[in-house]
Amino acid sequence: LVRLRARLARSQSVFGQGLLGLLSRDTLDDDAWDEIEDTLITADVGVTSATQIVQSLRTKVKVLGTRSPEEARTLLREELLAQINPDLERGVRTEPHGDRPAVLMIVGVNGTGKTTTSGKLARVLVGDGRSVVLGAADTFRAAAADQLETWGGRVGAPVVRKDEGADPASVAFDAVSRGIEDGVDAVIIDTAGRLHTKTGLMDELGKVKRVVEKKSQVDEVLLVLDATTGQNGLRQARVFAEVVNITGIVLTKLDGTAKGGIIIQVQRELGVPVKLVGLGEGPDDLAPFDPEAFVDAILG
Ligand code: GDP
Repeated sequence: LVRLRARLARSQSVFGQGLLGLLSRDTLDDDAWDEIEDTLITADVGVTSATQIVQSLRTKVKVLGTRSPEEARTLLREELLAQINPDLERGVRTEPHGDRPAVLMIVGVNGTGKTTTSGKLARVLVGDGRSVVLGAADTFRAAAADQLETWGGRVGAPVVRKDEGADPASVAFDAVSRGIEDGVDAVIIDTAGRLHTKTGLMDELGKVKRVVEKKSQVDEVLLVLDATTGQNGLRQARVFAEVVNITGIVLTKLDGTAKGGIIIQVQRELGVPVKLVGLGEGPDDLAPFDPEAFVDAILG
């Protein structure tokens, strides 16, 4: 955890230090407030949240006067936390139901980190003493199934796969069937993320979910979003949220960007909590999203 915090702090504090420097100036004129707003927008906080944060800070500073660096930090911390909404339920549902495993679908655009997240999540569960089956439902790219198999071997979770071009829903169905037969605790299904046409995607993901539900309820549909892709990634995420009922977001590659503000924007836009964050390519680089630790990493 300490290592993850350090990694988060390295990439995020650029933005936080800039904000703190601006907010603890001796005089805060309109230009300074504009700069604060620009800094927030540059960090992908989103225009609506950036405006709200600045308005709230302006009101407070008007009442309290300009702030010492420590006081500025306290104010900013409050505002950022309010935007992140620390009270949202962020636990990932991984508990089996009687003789049925928990079923988690991992969805998102190709390249965002779905397969890696599936592998890391399996690793966390196996490390916790739970048994996991992985389903390679991205049947459009043989390499994706190979990659998932590598993860399965690494973390000790069997992988259900079929030939390239097979029906993704049938792979998902088989993975859940296998999970039930083996009496495992959780089945994680890695899906395909081709954004060719919205209806194609809708048909495919909808079908995967419906077919799985013939066997077991789906406990989580986790949308994987690459934090480095900013507005473009967000646009793609919206399409997914329209076609399938997302239960949580996994924000990957936070180690590679100072734009962690995307957490605020994506939650506001999609109305679902960020539950997990990816902080590297290694098997242990997945962490539960902790709003307080995150804001502290930003503010240094
Ligand atoms: P998929 O196409 O959505 O399944 O994406 P992959 O899981 O294949 O990941 C795409 C690339 O992103 C790979 O090179 C991963 O190692 C890398 N990646 C995934 N998650 C993270 C992360 O949290 N941090 C970093 N730095 N790289 C990541």
